[in-house]
Amino acid sequence: MSPSESAALPSRAGSPLLTARGLHKSFGSNEVLKGLDLTVHRGEVVVLIGPSGSGKTTVLRSLNGLETPDAGILTVEGGPEIDFAARPGKATRFALRDRSAMVFQHHNLFPHFTVLQNVIEGPWRVQGRPKDEAIADARMLLARVGLADKETAYPHELSGGQQQRVGIVRALALRPDLLLFDEPTSALDPELVGEVLLVIKELADEGWTMVVVTHELAFAREAADHVLFLDGGIVLEEGPPEQLFTAPRHERTRRFLARIL
Ligand code: ADP
Repeated sequence: MSPSESAALPSRAGSPLLTARGLHKSFGSNEVLKGLDLTVHRGEVVVLIGPSGSGKTTVLRSLNGLETPDAGILTVEGGPEIDFAARPGKATRFALRDRSAMVFQHHNLFPHFTVLQNVIEGPWRVQGRPKDEAIADARMLLARVGLADKETAYPHELSGGQQQRVGIVRALALRPDLLLFDEPTSALDPELVGEVLLVIKELADEGWTMVVVTHELAFAREAADHVLFLDGGIVLEEGPPEQLFTAPRHERTRRFLARIL
């Protein structure tokens, strides 16, 4: 269940897996990312916090090729340096997408597919892995998040928390180097948030590398190795959670935390 290479690597603060430098992205006249820098080490849990509209989702989407920044350099371990100003082609962006898997705010499961079909779709049909191998892997992962008995269920037969756990399994089944979570619990009823955060925390403890956008600061405090506070399209402040949450250096960080805590 651990990421493929984890046995050979320390579970925390390994070598840089991903480095982004000077990311810029505008939507029309709205400059959303204004030279954002980000480094994610192997085995590290990086949490992005910040006000609505500060660019958190756009960063995540840029890291896996769903958005193409206007400028900036992105390097993923073992891959080529991607210079967005040079307008990289589709092949480069797809190569980037293969390295990571995203868990969305809304699980985005196919409603007419069973749980098992949803999970094997990516590994089997997209990645071309043998179907029986994809099924065995999916069953193992579903058991891992307590959903072994739900493989023949359809998404609408599950609770919101169960649906989101399937969403997580679907991402894990792609065996990515990097997991990206975009506010994975913000669409859930409050009583369902805990079960999903617990799964994410367990994955973190197993050594998965992840970038998490969340407003759940208690979770960030407990699970993050590194917290980035985004404001106005840049990383205004970053540090280990105990430092950022208890002794923020910037007034804007202080005000954000006071509002949300
Ligand atoms: P956050 O996740 O911090 O709330 P986002 O990255 O979602 O911030 O959005 C930052 C800004 O970019 C917002 O003003 C949003 O409206 C805008 N934006 C995001 N995606 C698009 C898009 N596809 N088209 C136009 N504007 C967008």
